[in-house]
Amino acid sequence: TVSELKSLLSRLDGRGYKAYRELEGIYRLAPELSFYLDRAQGDPFAAPSRVRVRLAMAEARFPAALLSNQVRKMALQDYILRAFARELKALSRPRGTGGSGLYRVDAGGQEIIFRSGCLVEEEFVEVRFFMGLPAAGRRILGQTALSMILEEIPRAARALRYSFHPARELEAFVDLVEDVEYIRGQLDDLGLVAFVGDGAILPRRSGVDDRPLKEGAVIFSSPPELRVKLDTRHHGSVSGMGIPSGVTLIVGGGFHGKTTLLEALSRGVYPHIPGDGRQWVITHSRAVKVRSEDGRFVAGVDISPFIADLPLGRSTRFFSTEDASGSTSLAAAIMEALEIGAKVLLIDEDTAATNFLIRDARMQALIPRDKEPIVPFVDKVRLLLRDYGVSTILVLGGSGDYLDVADRVIALDNYRVYDLTARAREVGRRLPSRRQPEGGDSFGLVCPRRPLPESFKPRRGRRERVKTRGLREIIFGQEVIDVSLVEQLVDDSQARTIAEIIRYFGHHLAPKGVGLREGVEMALELIRQKGFDALVGYPAGDLAFPRSFEVAAAINRLRSLKVQQ
Ligand code: ADP
Ligand code: MG
Repeated sequence: TVSELKSLLSRLDGRGYKAYRELEGIYRLAPELSFYLDRAQGDPFAAPSRVRVRLAMAEARFPAALLSNQVRKMALQDYILRAFARELKALSRPRGTGGSGLYRVDAGGQEIIFRSGCLVEEEFVEVRFFMGLPAAGRRILGQTALSMILEEIPRAARALRYSFHPARELEAFVDLVEDVEYIRGQLDDLGLVAFVGDGAILPRRSGVDDRPLKEGAVIFSSPPELRVKLDTRHHGSVSGMGIPSGVTLIVGGGFHGKTTLLEALSRGVYPHIPGDGRQWVITHSRAVKVRSEDGRFVAGVDISPFIADLPLGRSTRFFSTEDASGSTSLAAAIMEALEIGAKVLLIDEDTAATNFLIRDARMQALIPRDKEPIVPFVDKVRLLLRDYGVSTILVLGGSGDYLDVADRVIALDNYRVYDLTARAREVGRRLPSRRQPEGGDSFGLVCPRRPLPESFKPRRGRRERVKTRGLREIIFGQEVIDVSLVEQLVDDSQARTIAEIIRYFGHHLAPKGVGLREGVEMALELIRQKGFDALVGYPAGDLAFPRSFEVAAAINRLRSLKVQQ
């Protein structure tokens, strides 16, 4: 209660920082509003304290229609969290040593992802965040703490009330996410792997700024041959380009926007906030962007569909390396994605080894088949579709050999999209590639793997610590996992969740001999069913839901990983 909080803080005022620990607990700030100090930081420079506020639904009064299914609820939580973050940010200011007086809310970026920071339940609405408990030097500033908790936080907590929000905007946000997921759920039945709505703005401000390009963006408009109109629940029928399943090439001159389109598709596995420009770019949930990654680690992957035995008789059925090449890393990335259940591969020439993609007629004549271990992707892409039902979208400006294997050819010309399928057929007839197919008569096997328990044992008897450095690295014990090129990992908080899943895998799943795919799915299912707290064991405020592909991608890059096929 408020009076307890007041007397406690006046007692703590001026004392050493560690005494903030005594404040940990739950306080009723108003009849329906509770403040939780879950974990007080040890000093003003340490990671900020973990706190929550909870408002009873009787006061919050969000209409049931906003919560009528999981997707709508997730969207509502996201919206509330963003609004709360804006309110609190306006109140955040340095007030003393270190992080004194600062607030942090983990509210996400352009993508809308299920996260731990906001919880809407039947009985209450809760937001979780971080605050720097204030100090001068290392002495507690009790009065400042009091005004933060008693005045500022309740003011920001207005965002936990339905009445605080512009109803139209809130509804539009929730309806948008619902419709995006509704369309995504229909892609398979429609025979599509992706949809790009007319009017989309694809280019971004810069490589480090994911917001839409401010000026001069050419608005997306679908070519008539690929135009589809999709029904939605709230937006009537939405028109745009449907990319059918099969093999799709994206061609066109350099700088004409190919990579930008593919990147939008790669991010299109997530819904986007209104105003992002990519709200109606909707990609199959099992689409995986794969790329070359020189120097990466690979553990026991069967890459034999793409790479026959290597020089000096090294087998590729159980391929491990500390230092993969451009082609072996891409082969491994594809096989790893298939192992987890990819249904669409996204590949960009900019980030794919040339000798993996193509081997033209003249090179075939010069270097005989038995001297070249690599079976180029051009000879496997149709077998992959036939044997596994896996579609490919490939950006390629430099080789026409793919014209023979493509179902669709999309061209970019001055950022405008055209369907060149018929022209490509005609060119293919007129100028035969004269290649010999080298792919054999089937794609080959995808071998599931089981991570061995010792993979997760931290070295030198240390307890494993997990943390992350932004989107670049996940640190597990002594191992640093480089995830900087795992492109569909889009949020720091996903990386944190993955770090926790790796720990969970090591403790609970690997010892039971659970396979990689099953284990990753079990961990994600735990979060879906019981929430993020069940994974980490405390009320977490900065976790976001990763896809199974990105979790597996991180485990696959753990240099201590050992597997059995
Ligand atoms: P490519 O892969 O064909 O070489 P990119 O996709 O890298 O081309 O695009 C080249 C540049 O054009 C980038 O700076 C990108 O931001 C910009 N760009 C891409 N699409 C558009 C668009 N629709 N409108 C305006 N600029 C765009
Ligand atoms: Mg490019």
